[in-house]
Amino acid sequence: MSKNPSDPRKWHPATIAIHGLGRLPKAYHAVSTPIVQTSNYYFDTADEVEDFMRAKGQGVVTREHEYARYGNPTQQETERKLAAIEGAERAVLYSSGMAAVLLTIMTFMKPQGHIIFTGDCYRQTRDFATNFLGKFGVEHSIVDPTAEAIEKAIKPNTNIIFTESPTNPYLRVLDIPAIVRVAKKRNIMTIIDATMATPYNIRPIELGVDIVLHSATKYFGGHNDLMAGVAAGSAALMTDLYKMQRMIGATPGPLTCFLLERGLKTFGMRMEQHNRAGLAVAEMLESHPKIEKVWYPALKSHPDHTIGMEQMKGFGSVISFQVKGGNAETRKFIDALELFLITPSLGGSESLVTQMWAMSFFDYPEEYRKNIGMVDNLVRLALGLEDIDDLIADLKQALDTI
Ligand SMILES: *Cc1c(COP(=O)(O)O)cnc(C)c1O
Repeated sequence: MSKNPSDPRKWHPATIAIHGLGRLPKAYHAVSTPIVQTSNYYFDTADEVEDFMRAKGQGVVTREHEYARYGNPTQQETERKLAAIEGAERAVLYSSGMAAVLLTIMTFMKPQGHIIFTGDCYRQTRDFATNFLGKFGVEHSIVDPTAEAIEKAIKPNTNIIFTESPTNPYLRVLDIPAIVRVAKKRNIMTIIDATMATPYNIRPIELGVDIVLHSATKYFGGHNDLMAGVAAGSAALMTDLYKMQRMIGATPGPLTCFLLERGLKTFGMRMEQHNRAGLAVAEMLESHPKIEKVWYPALKSHPDHTIGMEQMKGFGSVISFQVKGGNAETRKFIDALELFLITPSLGGSESLVTQMWAMSFFDYPEEYRKNIGMVDNLVRLALGLEDIDDLIADLKQALDTI
């Protein structure tokens, strides 16, 4: 292995996203990471099997690959890179963001334990908490996304605080150091779903959070063409997660890992553009006469502007806002957009738009839906990588129709 860097930890996330923490030997000296499309890996002799199993029993891994549910080489290289970008010791990849969320909770939840979730959280996370945790004898609370509300909700049996920051769709930013302080005092594990921020914009591991989760389907993949999830943290915690992962097999396939690792090579420049586009569009919308309210933490009008400016480098390209009017005006606006595709998700190359209540909360009772903020005129944009002037022009012409 030639030309390995002296201290790659000094690199910025954008550089680590391209080079990892150094060069690994690759077949044929390939620059890109090969796709190893196989379900199993053979041994040369019967003795080799016995030696391998004996060593494994003593905790020594003499070869990395055995069976594809346990992982594949493309996955392992992508995990190393993601851990390095996050500033964590180790990362575990999953076949979706929700697999990462559920399997992390299931690995660390305890019978008769209590988990605190922050409100305005991802719908499927909320549904897992409300519909399934009870079956395992686990209690939960869903509280306002603030450090004070979390502290108030702590009970003697609380063993996990599960947060998101920024939240979705209102982009509430949590005071992560304050939450970590409260949790550490009581020996409570902290888990954050930082999909909306990415390690480009916030550094939860450096702020003391135990486990960071992402839907890699979003900004990490970056092209609206794959599904994956990732957990990152200490080697010890990741070993626990990995044990569950190799049993359940929510393992991303080699092609998905290749696409993800390829997407990471432009992670830094994409995030820079997402941050720029988000700010420009949020400012335009806030000054527009057809808009009632914009939710974007860079704006002084956002409730978490101060914390956001302290903790985050930028705010990405998800912007929520309320148009002046109701359901009819909101839909007229959405249908008039030419560039934005009507679909959920975020963080990819194409710009997307959703009327939140209809796309993600349609089957909830109206009363409950409104209680959690899913009002008729709430629109969420996930800006892609198109020219910012074109995005602004499209939004303006669509707003002119209402
Ligand atoms: C998309 C998303 C998830 C779920 O990830 P999938 O890859 O769709 O399974 C979880 N949390 C947040 C914040 C998300 O945006």
